[in-house]
Amino acid sequence: MVNQSFETKIVHQSLKKTNHIRSKTTPIFQTSAFTFNSLEELEGFYDGDASYLYTRTGNPNTDELGQMVASLEGAPSGVATSSGLSAILAGVLSVASAGDHIVAAEDIYGGTHHLLKQELKNLGIETTFVNFADEAAIRHAIRDNTKLLYSETVTNPFLRVERIDKLVQLGEEYKLYTMVDNTFATPYLLNPYLEGIHIVAHSATKYLGGHSDVTAGVVVGCEELMSKARQKVVNLGSNLSSFEAWLTCRGIKTMALRMERQSANAKQLAESLYRNSYVKKVYYPTDLSSRGNGAIVTIELADTCDIHRFFSSLGWVKIVPTLAGVETTVSYPLGTSHRALSLEEQQNIGINQQVVRISIGIEDADDIIKQFDKAIQASV
Ligand SMILES: *Cc1c(COP(=O)(O)O)cnc(C)c1O
Repeated sequence: MVNQSFETKIVHQSLKKTNHIRSKTTPIFQTSAFTFNSLEELEGFYDGDASYLYTRTGNPNTDELGQMVASLEGAPSGVATSSGLSAILAGVLSVASAGDHIVAAEDIYGGTHHLLKQELKNLGIETTFVNFADEAAIRHAIRDNTKLLYSETVTNPFLRVERIDKLVQLGEEYKLYTMVDNTFATPYLLNPYLEGIHIVAHSATKYLGGHSDVTAGVVVGCEELMSKARQKVVNLGSNLSSFEAWLTCRGIKTMALRMERQSANAKQLAESLYRNSYVKKVYYPTDLSSRGNGAIVTIELADTCDIHRFFSSLGWVKIVPTLAGVETTVSYPLGTSHRALSLEEQQNIGINQQVVRISIGIEDADDIIKQFDKAIQASV
């Protein structure tokens, strides 16, 4: 096969020649099960024919989504799931079971933190959380029963960029699996599987879908691990619906265009915020990838700014507790994602009442900059 570039693959790989009707896009297989003409045919399914039986165990739309993301990440196999969190769960359970131990970065997504700290602990899988910027702390946390090192390529809300090479090196040294959540960077900006990470998870709810109209997840890796992850999804019932898989595949086709524009807009907004004397801190990575630095900018407003007046002066920029849509939105970590932390934990990671996370959209960059200037001015 001719080697295609990312931008070409993203639009063409999903075309399937599965039926004689030749629809331009993949139809939605809105069916809970599939029919068989004979017992031989049914037997063929169990013998590994490329056929379908029952949607929870496999559906052409969810398979297409898994394959699309795997291909964009450069991985052999991918599994679509009902949410980002269930993709992470399937990935973790493909390598860890009761009695095993995980070492995870302390600044990961709140939902993942809870999943590891509470739900998996209750099932006998224990996690130690450490500062992954501190290599000695990771080494110190590794035990005889440690199976997995877990982190995110870019963290929320302060956008710490993980040292993937270090993580891969530690994994090799201690013979551990490595897994990262690549949601914020997307496969457009980073491909951690190609750098040696074993398992890569995505909340497709964010940039893959890109339009804030689906909740979905995808986990990718080698055939062996993904076959285990697929079994977990089937057995735990955390499969994605065919319609949501279809919507996500549709969203993915424009991801390169969206990310290119959103990253460029974010760069311009970050530069303008750096120059604004009422902005105390700007958190924005500087060399994430050759294609851009992502589309999230987090700021800390000066102590003299009234945060309530800032939020109520944002005009068309809405307050939303999510990110990655085509619209520019803001979220308030103290009031939503990091609400459950103690005051001390919030202070340790830098969350306070002046911190605002901005998810930059595809609008005109000057309009975005003007709207934030206006809101900051109003808050002074
Ligand atoms: C949103 C998010 C998740 C969870 O995804 P859901 O689709 O809401 O389950 C996990 N990781 C990161 C980095 C996220 O932003």
